[in-house]
Amino acid sequence: MTVLCYHAVQPGWQAPMSMEPDMFASHMGWLARHRRVVPLETAVGSLDRHGRLPGRAVALTFDDGFRSVHQHALEVLTRHGLPVTVFLVAATLGEGGHDVDWVDRPPDSPLETLTVDEIHEMQSLGVSFQSHSLAHRDLTQLSYDECVRDLTSSRELLESVLDSHVRLLAYPRGRHTAAVRAAAEAAGYTHAFTLPEGREPFGPYALPRVGIYHDNSVSRLRMKSNRSYVPLRTSPMATRLGRALAGARHG
Ligand SMILES: [Zn+2]
Repeated sequence: MTVLCYHAVQPGWQAPMSMEPDMFASHMGWLARHRRVVPLETAVGSLDRHGRLPGRAVALTFDDGFRSVHQHALEVLTRHGLPVTVFLVAATLGEGGHDVDWVDRPPDSPLETLTVDEIHEMQSLGVSFQSHSLAHRDLTQLSYDECVRDLTSSRELLESVLDSHVRLLAYPRGRHTAAVRAAAEAAGYTHAFTLPEGREPFGPYALPRVGIYHDNSVSRLRMKSNRSYVPLRTSPMATRLGRALAGARHG
């Protein structure tokens, strides 16, 4: 089984990274009935060398910390008792905040991220928060030192807001190199997550997740939740789909 990656649950936003609330509720209902949803912190200790979880186990993650997760996902997650981890862009919580400037197809209205109060409320309900870097820059474009500084600042800022340890990282857009992986370790993380579209190096700093996107039905979720990642480049048609998705999605 696998680690799933969602982003926004925002009504009317047609981008691949957002899901309609009723479809999201269908996904969670299906997972609650058919899979054993485990906390990500538990999952990292159970992954095999292909990034798979044993049995029917699945872990749920959200990238970017959008406010729509509080508005349209939290209720259904708590109703089903599903553990979830949200990866936050730390600068959105820092002094002066940070606009959502990393989305390829933003909706008409400005995208909002979770407030500190909402995060604390979600923490009290059992939601776990971890790092999605400082400002959602492409880490592969930074020097090693810049990358260590970015990831260390993110961890420290989040730990002060959350009053708990931050040891897990999701790379922005899933992008990483050997230098980025080494920087993640140097910055104090124990594990980091990717979004592979093909064969990638695997290890504690390259743990694969499967992205779930706008038009993914429950049957597509069933197929994806059986994989450790979905290889998009295995057939000519899949290659075209992968290119279209890579161009359209944010990651
Ligand atoms: Zn992201």
